[in-house]
Amino acid sequence: MTIFTEGFRQLKNYIGGEWVNSKSDKKELVVNPATGQTIAEIPLSTIEDVDHAVDIAKEAFKSWSQTAVPKRARILFKYQQLLVDHWDELAKLVTIENGKALSEAMGEVQRGIECVEFAAGAPSLMMGKQLPDIATNIESGMYRYPLGVVGGITPFNFPMMVPCWMFPIAIASGNTFVLKPSERTPLLAARLAELMTEAGLPSGVLNIVNGAHDVVNGLLEHKDVKAISFVGSQPVAEYVYKKGTANLKRVQALSGAKNHSIVLKDANLDLAAREITNAAFGSAGERCMAAAVVAVEESIADELVKRLSILADEIKIGNGLTEGVFLGPVIREENKTRTIDYIESGIAQGAALVRDGRKDEAVSGPGFFMGPTIFDHVKKEMKIWQDEIFAPLLSIIRVKDLTEAVDVANASPFANGACLYTDSASSVRQFRENIDAGMLGVNVGVPAPMAFFPFSGYKDSFYGDLHANGCDGIEFYTRKKMLTARFE
Ligand code: NAD
Repeated sequence: MTIFTEGFRQLKNYIGGEWVNSKSDKKELVVNPATGQTIAEIPLSTIEDVDHAVDIAKEAFKSWSQTAVPKRARILFKYQQLLVDHWDELAKLVTIENGKALSEAMGEVQRGIECVEFAAGAPSLMMGKQLPDIATNIESGMYRYPLGVVGGITPFNFPMMVPCWMFPIAIASGNTFVLKPSERTPLLAARLAELMTEAGLPSGVLNIVNGAHDVVNGLLEHKDVKAISFVGSQPVAEYVYKKGTANLKRVQALSGAKNHSIVLKDANLDLAAREITNAAFGSAGERCMAAAVVAVEESIADELVKRLSILADEIKIGNGLTEGVFLGPVIREENKTRTIDYIESGIAQGAALVRDGRKDEAVSGPGFFMGPTIFDHVKKEMKIWQDEIFAPLLSIIRVKDLTEAVDVANASPFANGACLYTDSASSVRQFRENIDAGMLGVNVGVPAPMAFFPFSGYKDSFYGDLHANGCDGIEFYTRKKMLTARFE
């Protein structure tokens, strides 16, 4: 069973193990950002579609939550094998709908598979705790249970990895799931659901409702949806968190970012320049862990800027399916226009434009390409420092030392990732103790935690308590019962 045919794909909703029509006849077109061609359309589903999916998921919860945990885990083992078998196909699909280079997409599929591998450990992860003697002949125990129906709302930039932060752990812990993928990259999610069914998941445990705001609001307002996992931009994350919690749900809302990389004079500059180039321009800068700002010590700033410019000039721009391409398109024409607006604002506010990504040949189209852009002498008063641009645009701020660099990074309202390039152990300690960010890298450009650790942003980069992935994920998707018993 597959909805995937060659050429144009007409997506429906996946509810109760079947592809079903939406109640809405409004559609959204899905475009390959590398070519500008329409590759699919999805329904802009209604609140009634959400209600239908939640009803089915609620019914499925009755038996799924009673299915033995090792049996649930076995389905995930099978799923892991299917994902490995379909690795190339999935990566290609990511590149076609998102635009990132195929090598990046292969890496993304790996990240998704790792989440499934973590979730397959459910029999250990779901264990409770006991204390046999809290008082004479009295013992106490904690038991872990699923919540019920949970919802997931995902962004365009990681169509495989981000849904895999959510549904494998939620399902392994006995919940049933309704996913609303990004309307800009819905194809991969559809394939993930089909493969899950092939792995033996009973119908109704994983459902997909395609669409946009109405589906999000339907999930946030539905009384039978017990928790919401959200990943996306800051204003929407804040909205989802406020509305979801006002409707008495658990919410984890992972949000935007403006990650700073700090380069000290004792750093290995070759390594720093390579890592920053990858972190700033890989995936077209559309990573929540992208390097957006470099704070560099003044004495090495000229040399670092020179090396970054040389590396940026060597980047091959083009369709991510083409061998050797590193920089694919941004997701839509409007994102390209927005990036150009930011370049103009950087110039107007007095930053020094070192490399102008508007001038690269691929930018004239077709597709939504932007070359790597580098600004030097950026200041905190400039919009290019303040806003999440989410494009291949790197800002360089010159600082006198690590203390000033950390102050600059901490002035941002975001606190997702931060990196330090140095050879000094004491600088590493000073950085770790003082930086306001949840995911730190030392001589590593994209320090995204692996599936068995939480994805740990805070401030305006995260709303909620328990993060995605790792044991936080298990905590988020389960509730506990305490039993105190007397034996005489
Ligand atoms: P987005 O906020 O536009 O969309 C995310 C989801 O929210 C989509 O499913 C979309 O349909 C829905 N949505 C959008 N506007 C809405 C509205 N007004 N009301 C209700 N629902 C709405 O985000 P995006 O552009 O798809 O993704 C990029 C953003 O995601 C960036 O800001 C990036 O930093 C962030 N992101 C964060 C992390 C993290 O771990 N913190 C990871 C990946 C992406």
